[in-house]
Amino acid sequence: MSQELDFQQLKVYFGDNLIDFSDAKLPIASSAVLYGLSVYSVFAVRKTADGMKAFRLTDHFTRLIESAKIIGIDDFAKKWDYEKFEKAVSQLVSENNIDQDVFIRCSVHVDTLVAGTKSRGLNSVLSMFIYPYKSILPEAGARIKTSVWRRVPDNSIPPRAKVNGAYINSVLGKQDALDSGYDDCLFLDMAGHVCELSAANIFLVKNGVLITPDSTSDLLEGINRKTIIEYAKDLGIKVEQRTVDLTELYIADELFACGTSAWLTPITEVDGRKIDSGNHILSKKLSKLHLDTLSGKSKYSDKLLTKL
Ligand code: PMP
Repeated sequence: MSQELDFQQLKVYFGDNLIDFSDAKLPIASSAVLYGLSVYSVFAVRKTADGMKAFRLTDHFTRLIESAKIIGIDDFAKKWDYEKFEKAVSQLVSENNIDQDVFIRCSVHVDTLVAGTKSRGLNSVLSMFIYPYKSILPEAGARIKTSVWRRVPDNSIPPRAKVNGAYINSVLGKQDALDSGYDDCLFLDMAGHVCELSAANIFLVKNGVLITPDSTSDLLEGINRKTIIEYAKDLGIKVEQRTVDLTELYIADELFACGTSAWLTPITEVDGRKIDSGNHILSKKLSKLHLDTLSGKSKYSDKLLTKL
């Protein structure tokens, strides 16, 4: 695993240049600061036997483009294409001499000054910084609690778009869970169905079937979620993407969270109900496969990793 990284000493990508961390600044009058008008993605860059590689980089770029499109940040797609993006990521990693697993956070900020509450026709700037590869959940297993806050619905602030400002919803949920002694929150939608955690998707296993809320359940369509579904289908495991009730989680055989920063983490407790006495056999199998993929050792690695 990674040694602690002094990420503030590294160069960051800002606009079209690599500059010092402390020089990358957004104006206080920009829409990014005033309204949280930025979209972002976080992706893993892993050390493999064949050098540093990014996981599903094209998917992350596509999600940035689609998030910007949903919100109406039209400047981004005019300035960036995938080739330019991959080159910038490569440059960031190589010029910082990165030789360990890291995360890269890439954001597209609207930096026009006092533009008012609109999104189209404004200027955007891309930022990327490297930071330590640490999970946001306890690796051995997470205890979660149903949030007192509901997930923002698609017709309010769409969770399908990864918009910085929308993460206030996640902050409220996560803090409520931490205040109550849990590791993370479980968001329900306005109808009371299961959505996701504060920054991870959720899966349950019941009688050998892998079940996860479908993509219209007010959630972020996670790139790891998509990958887990692909593995499961290849392994001949039945997968259901559908509306999920809270009580299905209480009686699940296994439960796990997945996401770039949550890795694939077993969930051992929901609202005081213990899950699977800690066995999580299928979760562990999928987790092992996923770790092998990320580190360049599975049959999926060639397809899903981009050499930087
Ligand atoms: N849901 C939310 C709200 C998230 O912030 C994340 C992390 N990006 C995920 C799910 C998982 O997405 P991914 O697998 O693409 O990291």
